[in-house]
Amino acid sequence: MPKDPVQVLRSVFGYERFRGQQRAVIDHLTAGGDALVLMPTGGGKSLCYQIPALIRPGTGVVVSPLIALMQDQVETLLQLGVRAAFLNSTLPYDTQRQVEQSFLDGQLDLLYVAPERLLTDRVQALIGRAEVSLFAIDEAHCVSQWGHDFRADYWQLSLLHERFPGIPRIGLTATADERTRNEIVERLGLQDAKVFCSGFDRPNIRYRISPKQDARRQLVHFLRSEHPGDAGIVYCLSRKKVESTAEWLRAEGFSALPYHAGLSTDERQKNQRRFLMEEGVIVVATIAFGMGIDKPNVRFVAHLDLPKSLEAYYQETGRAGRDGLPANAWMVYGLQDVITLRQMVEASEADELHKRVERYKLDSMLGFCELTGCRRQALLRYFGEISDKPCGNCDNCLNPPDTWDGTDAARKALSCVYRTGQRFGAHHIIDVLRGKSNERIQRLGHDRLSTFGIGQELDEKQWLSVFRQIIAQGYLTVDWEAHGALRLTEDCRPVLRGEVSLSLRKDSYKEAASAGRRHIEARFSNPDDDRLWQALRALRRNLAEQQDVPAYVIFQDAVLMEMVQARPGNRTELKRLAGIGERKLQLYGDEFLAVILEHGSRDGSASTASTTADESLALFRLGMNAEQIAYQRGLTITTVYGHLARAIETGAVELGEVVGLSDSEIGEIEAVRQTLPEDQRYALKPLYQALNGKFSYEVLRCIRAHHERHRNSSGQA
Ligand SMILES: [Zn+2]
Repeated sequence: MPKDPVQVLRSVFGYERFRGQQRAVIDHLTAGGDALVLMPTGGGKSLCYQIPALIRPGTGVVVSPLIALMQDQVETLLQLGVRAAFLNSTLPYDTQRQVEQSFLDGQLDLLYVAPERLLTDRVQALIGRAEVSLFAIDEAHCVSQWGHDFRADYWQLSLLHERFPGIPRIGLTATADERTRNEIVERLGLQDAKVFCSGFDRPNIRYRISPKQDARRQLVHFLRSEHPGDAGIVYCLSRKKVESTAEWLRAEGFSALPYHAGLSTDERQKNQRRFLMEEGVIVVATIAFGMGIDKPNVRFVAHLDLPKSLEAYYQETGRAGRDGLPANAWMVYGLQDVITLRQMVEASEADELHKRVERYKLDSMLGFCELTGCRRQALLRYFGEISDKPCGNCDNCLNPPDTWDGTDAARKALSCVYRTGQRFGAHHIIDVLRGKSNERIQRLGHDRLSTFGIGQELDEKQWLSVFRQIIAQGYLTVDWEAHGALRLTEDCRPVLRGEVSLSLRKDSYKEAASAGRRHIEARFSNPDDDRLWQALRALRRNLAEQQDVPAYVIFQDAVLMEMVQARPGNRTELKRLAGIGERKLQLYGDEFLAVILEHGSRDGSASTASTTADESLALFRLGMNAEQIAYQRGLTITTVYGHLARAIETGAVELGEVVGLSDSEIGEIEAVRQTLPEDQRYALKPLYQALNGKFSYEVLRCIRAHHERHRNSSGQA
């Protein structure tokens, strides 16, 4: 095994460069230091201990809380030629003995162990006799009794430090909040560890929240139009709803499976396994599903019910897009969700202190839903991270919502709640506001109230939206003891007195542009590419089935996409693609090359060698923008725009796909260009300066490439 981290990265894992803080963590750990790594899902956490384990003498012992996750990691490592194994309760006795012996003999690079097993005298004795390179404690937030992943066994893990003080330790988590972080440090005895905190943004996830109308139909529309054939997770609050939603989706032709704590262990495992192994399976689940699922190509997470906190929302949506490719976090919510959750908090048995925490968390969640600004900024801010510009990849950034002055409407709504005695739910109050005279209203005498019929200017849907927002903002509370009657809170006084004005969100039922749509279209835009793509996927599926491993363990989608784009003609060219290390080249290289050659090279021209620009283009075709490509590949934005500009020049992509400029902006740039001396019209700097820096060099470069293309083509004509 080479001793240089970059060499290991290239030869074993098939990547050119490290991302983010990976290199710093690896160097620190390799040198024998302890580390605490907080990195978002999909940020490449496991490399942080896998590479040091390969470089340092001995076996890296990895504590991992979930069996499915362990198996997945070990299968992936074996494919890379890394000597890995696991010890957990699923192993037959003989196999367990063999694994233990290999560990003692120094035949393992990495050994994954369940925490309860690690703490047995037997395994402790083994560790004492074997050579151990490091301890990695994955999902370290399991020590936190505040989180829902709490594992009592994790509390004992500080033993490792006490018994084996000389062996470096690394704790890893994707959980964001500070309290959990402090708990990890304290419980695991990591006070002297160096902390590597990467921030929690998941730039490839597009956050979208829409008002609920007919949730199931909205879901089916979303799945059909944006995710045909994709794997994803649909979250619901109750077991019953999970069952009925899964059934409904199956009737609509989707491959959907239920998952909740009420199913037998057998059935749960069967459904989880199908989700991992097959393509295009949708799991409908309560929150019981998800932890330990490391499937990289989950393309969407859909919420039919609101999570109880932003922590839960972040964690659940975070299961999408672990491969770094575009993914959707989609949610619908409505008045009833707000009422149900408010009621749940008020009705809970918890003491006042816990209730206050829960209320705060729910308020933050509801505020997030009603937000009119960038959702990503708000989400990151909640976790203490400031990002200075809107993300451009959430529904509010893509389709800024309209707002309206709802002060008057809110006042009418609040007075009507008051006049009717704070004993009714929203639907009745809306009837009164709209002046509906039915038997019940007459019997209660509500048609004689001063607020009867004062709200005819809004229709029922608009009133529901008003109520949802004023309840979300805390002006009304839900009395759970009185069957969900609405009551005024102290906060509503200034609104009633006309001292504050309320800006409300205008609900739009138009869906924001999808993250997935472009890549699906792009995938099929060239029939020749599409045929090759399908053929490569078929080969991958066969190989995976033969070995009984998930398809992504053979190659991830991005690697196949690069093969389509670059069409390598030999092993050397194939090896240049990201994600193909030496072992996989040996195992599968020839078979994949044969399929590529069979499909011939593009346009009948000779097969071209893959270049770094092709790699960027392949990712772009998968729907990533320049920032995401730069992050994924560890390049600068300028370099990536250089690659895209080249693609514009050759006609591989259109200018409009790369830069989102309006016609008037393009007109403005052109007008300014014409004012430049002729010999400077195609130089970037004079144009940039003449435009006073209004457009970046990157954008101008793409526009120049567009011109070049048209100059070339008209020159030929
Ligand atoms: Zn945004």
